Amino acid sequence: IQSKLPNVGTTIFTTMSALAAQHNAVNLGQGLPDYAMSKELIALVSKAMNDNYNQYAPMAGWMPLRESIAEKVQFLYNTTINPDTDITITPGGTYAIYSSLTTILQPGDEVIVFEPAYDSYVPNIEVNGGKAILLPLTIPDFRIDWQLVKQNISPKTKAIIINTPHNPTGAVLQESDIQELRKIVKGTNIFIISDEVYEHLIFDGIAHQSILRYPDLMERSFVCFSFGKVYHCTGWKLGYTIAPAALTKEFRKVHQFNCFSCFTPAQVALATFLKDKDSYLQLSPFLQEKRDYFIELMKETRFNLKSSSGSYFITASYERISDEGDADFAIRLTKEFGVATIPLSAFYQNSKDDKLLRFCFAKKNETLEAAAEKLVNL
Ligand code: PMP
Ligand code: GLN
Repeated sequence: IQSKLPNVGTTIFTTMSALAAQHNAVNLGQGLPDYAMSKELIALVSKAMNDNYNQYAPMAGWMPLRESIAEKVQFLYNTTINPDTDITITPGGTYAIYSSLTTILQPGDEVIVFEPAYDSYVPNIEVNGGKAILLPLTIPDFRIDWQLVKQNISPKTKAIIINTPHNPTGAVLQESDIQELRKIVKGTNIFIISDEVYEHLIFDGIAHQSILRYPDLMERSFVCFSFGKVYHCTGWKLGYTIAPAALTKEFRKVHQFNCFSCFTPAQVALATFLKDKDSYLQLSPFLQEKRDYFIELMKETRFNLKSSSGSYFITASYERISDEGDADFAIRLTKEFGVATIPLSAFYQNSKDDKLLRFCFAKKNETLEAAAEKLVNL
């Protein structure tokens, strides 16, 4: 078979989680909580199943859920979204991004991607015949160099992918970034894919710069979300894409012959659960406390933690401990010291080694303590 993705192997998340299991290591690698999700939400799903909501949902998603999402968007970002024409429920955020790219890309189109980047973006572009234009985020703060973006816009530029809060670095876009983005795309046909799956995981009182706040950007954007990240249920693989009606119409053409519709009971349950604002507003203080606790614990080690303003990730330099490559070091850390992480080079297409590891702190306090206890030995 001729591979459509010749450069792609097994994802680092699969590799590191398997290694963690094999060596019984504390797993701070793959981004997933190890604490329980809301019992109330589980009860609502169970109720939906008992009430016989077990057949195909409408292709675009359960309407009451789309209405609850529109209400939430109005409340959070002061934007009116039409639940009928602008929202599509998807099987997860990754699929939402993939389908957005599939909707717009023609062979040879270029898409600007900032590195380090969530590892699905580039394969998503390439499988659609597009070309990723890889631009580095600036060191040490992982900000976007807008001058560099300007220099890399070409007649073939079809889209720019942004991700705030950012996986893997925890960086967040500021209002000034959005102003730069506005200037760059004004008068062009460039689309924006905005990965906002960590919209509620933002700390220190910083406001999330959702594209949904900006009508002029909204009209050219696919904004992608994930319930897995909001409600501690990554295994549900449920999310949504918000895009203007004309874009959503094309998006649904792709979606209807790929997946058609998503798991009904969870949609019925979320339609109700989402109405409780606390269900998502409490996320930021909860995770901020975890971040701060992890930083405190790690002070006893020789790792040098970088800042994290959002997401449930934080990066750390191990320069004081070893000069090994980050992948080798991450493997040794798992095997010999019993802590699994993700080496940052996994978020770059071309080998780059800044001696950084990504830690996921969405864990029970005792898990974070167990990891720190092992890491002080290095
Ligand atoms: N984007 C980023 C940056 C992520 O970290 C994730 C989490 N895997 C996703 C999108 C998508 O999440 P999911 O497909 O699990 O809903
Ligand atoms: N988003 C998760 C992470 O970055 C992993 C998702 C996946 O395993 N594909 O860790």
